[in-house]
Amino acid sequence: MTSVLPQSAAALVDPQGRTIRYLRISVTDRCDLRCRYCMAEQMTFLPRAKLLSLDEIAIIAERFIARGVTKIRLSGGEPLVRRDVGDLVRRLGRHVGAGLDELTMTTNATRLDQHAQEMVDAGIRRINVSLDSLDAERFRYITRHGDLDQVLRGIAAAKAAGLAVKINMVALAGLNEAEIPAMLRWCVEEGHDLSLIETMPLGAIDEDRTDRFVPLTRVLADLQTQFALHRDAHRTGGPARYWRVEGTATKLGLISPLTANFCDGCNRVRLTTEGKLYLCLGHDDQVDLKAALRDGGIDGLDAAIDLGLTRKPARHDFRIGRDAAPAVARHMSVTGG
Ligand code: SAM
Ligand code: SF4
Repeated sequence: MTSVLPQSAAALVDPQGRTIRYLRISVTDRCDLRCRYCMAEQMTFLPRAKLLSLDEIAIIAERFIARGVTKIRLSGGEPLVRRDVGDLVRRLGRHVGAGLDELTMTTNATRLDQHAQEMVDAGIRRINVSLDSLDAERFRYITRHGDLDQVLRGIAAAKAAGLAVKINMVALAGLNEAEIPAMLRWCVEEGHDLSLIETMPLGAIDEDRTDRFVPLTRVLADLQTQFALHRDAHRTGGPARYWRVEGTATKLGLISPLTANFCDGCNRVRLTTEGKLYLCLGHDDQVDLKAALRDGGIDGLDAAIDLGLTRKPARHDFRIGRDAAPAVARHMSVTGG
């Protein structure tokens, strides 16, 4: 199918007056790891017949670009386990600088050494890599299967290829909380940014997230005793707040949807690998873009996107605590983190 980009259409503005400029795409719900806060050990993944084809993902993404989206993040699950992801990266990469300001990816880096160069060639400049520990045993425990050396090789390959790397670390009480200052020091040495994330109540896992929840207010107070941190005005329209580590190139991000709610400036929507457009990570409101595209072509797709926008909730409603059910039943890997 040909690109849908030339046919521009109305900008994406929701009932709260927020303009949508950021699309996250979960290209697969599958993953080669099983991080304890993200997935249960036994997961049921979508049958392949239900997935959007790569062409359909690209058509939907290009329609969002035509309607004003300037940033796309490929995520999952683990995006690099989808066999044809390189083709998607190349196709969407053609729009970087021509509608799209940024194409990026969040990955666990287990296969990054094989993909880093093709990402750079396609126009990707920055990526996020999940790394919850620099201790090989703890890393294996948290991910259930992960090999730290393999991930570090992937990160090194990304750096060598010229990709800027932001490390994502979910703060977990009794697991990696004490390691956070060391992780920040490592990021400073390696020239990476670091984003710390509060564990969010998304999907059933084998543990009670309350046991592992760390409010990032506590982490920040601890880091401020060891680092000179200066507030940075940088905003991405998400729940992150940023600090600069004095005398370094490293930016520290705190993603705290539980202890702070920044939904007022939300500029993003999320496409699942099954073709559903979720309007908020923490709500079940969605529209089926796969059906709309298959039944109604680009006009059907536009109508479904417009309908979806009218359903974008004003704010999420995350709570964490004893007996609090997950805010939504689907895992982060379905919606695309
Ligand atoms: N597999 C890739 C990775 O791990 O980077 C991309 C998908 S993963 C779902 C995206 C991000 O979401 C990761 O940084 C991961 O740590 C985070 N994440 C997953 N489940 C989470 C949860 N329940 N609460 C907070 N962050 C979560
Ligand atoms: Fe996989 Fe990423 Fe979830 Fe870990 S956080 S299980 S790497 S999708």
